[in-house]
Amino acid sequence: MVHELLKMRRSVRLAAKTISEVSSQSSNQIVRLKARSKSTKGGKKTNKYSVYKKSIKRNRETSSTSDCDENECKESMVNCSGIIEEKIKPKLKRVKTEQDNSTVIASGNLQQPMLQGKLVGAHVSISGGIQNAVSEALKIGAKAFGLFLRSQRQWKSKPLEDKAAELFKQACERGGFSARAILPHGIYLMNCGSPEEETLAKSRETLVEELKRCEKLGLALYNFHPGSTCGKITVEECIDRIAQSINEAHLQTNHVVTVLENMSCQGNTVGGKFEELREIIDRVEDKSRVGVCIDTCHAFAAGYDISSDGGFDKMMQEFESVIGLKYLRAVHLNDSKGELGCHLDRHENIGKGKIGINAFRRLMMDPRFNGIPMILETPCEAENTYQKEVKLLYSFRDGKS
Ligand SMILES: [Zn+2]
Ligand SMILES: [Zn+2]
Repeated sequence: MVHELLKMRRSVRLAAKTISEVSSQSSNQIVRLKARSKSTKGGKKTNKYSVYKKSIKRNRETSSTSDCDENECKESMVNCSGIIEEKIKPKLKRVKTEQDNSTVIASGNLQQPMLQGKLVGAHVSISGGIQNAVSEALKIGAKAFGLFLRSQRQWKSKPLEDKAAELFKQACERGGFSARAILPHGIYLMNCGSPEEETLAKSRETLVEELKRCEKLGLALYNFHPGSTCGKITVEECIDRIAQSINEAHLQTNHVVTVLENMSCQGNTVGGKFEELREIIDRVEDKSRVGVCIDTCHAFAAGYDISSDGGFDKMMQEFESVIGLKYLRAVHLNDSKGELGCHLDRHENIGKGKIGINAFRRLMMDPRFNGIPMILETPCEAENTYQKEVKLLYSFRDGKS
């Protein structure tokens, strides 16, 4: 009976969502669909994926007996964006922002300006209150931003107050940020595929809690690291747990899309290979509420050579054939300190790492990335680093560089 009710609730939600989304799907969806149908012709997708499916069971086994204790495992879940939280606090010079003046339509809680073109921004601090994230984003000339929803290094946190949520929503509307341009990042402690029952339970509780925070803030997306085997279970088992965590969280919340971030294959993390992300998506019941965020540094470290034109094309073809472009919901823009395939999660400033500037130029020129948040998580040593990087990236779009 309860199950039936949940099913009905979901169908009603899906119908309502379809109505509200049909009008807000921007032309980039069409471009993406066209590109997708072009490159999947000849049944390429089926072949590639079915070959993978056959081999995955053979190849997968627990990565080691137990070289990874819980602390090491947590370590592998933490990525270098951990440095982000403190880094944009200094006062930055206010710069004029280029917000779209396009039509505003109502969808969800936040007003939704039509999302066209590139939405570049950075991960910003919520120091002093979550509403401050918006002014931080405006200061750097961003059209999108990422943020933590609370302190990211502890399980417990104060509930989000009504007043703070209201101030945040008002600030977003004033700043012209629609829900689809904002990409919250889940806390690093979470491991929704954990082999430890206690950690798994806490992670699942946290996932629901954070999705509810998103709903209260009027947000549409929620990005997190899929999980880690900690070397104690198989990748397959970990994937099952991650998908179950997502399914349970979807049933307890209403509309936010859970966005899986590709990882760098560091330690025992899952989601470095597109095939693993696809396997998670396959097990998610409500496919309208799951998506993927491509982190460029993680992709490069995992072995996708986006530094060359050929490699960039190859990665995109693989994304299309293994996952599907309709699941592409966000990008993390990071160069890499580490070499191709190093598995290290070490972010570098745009154009200063091993990936190089060309990949970012390609990203900015590619219509498949229109209308989704593209978030910088680069080291921010100088006060105006993000401001400069946002400007640099937009100059590629305009064909200036
Ligand atoms: Zn991340
Ligand atoms: Zn990232």
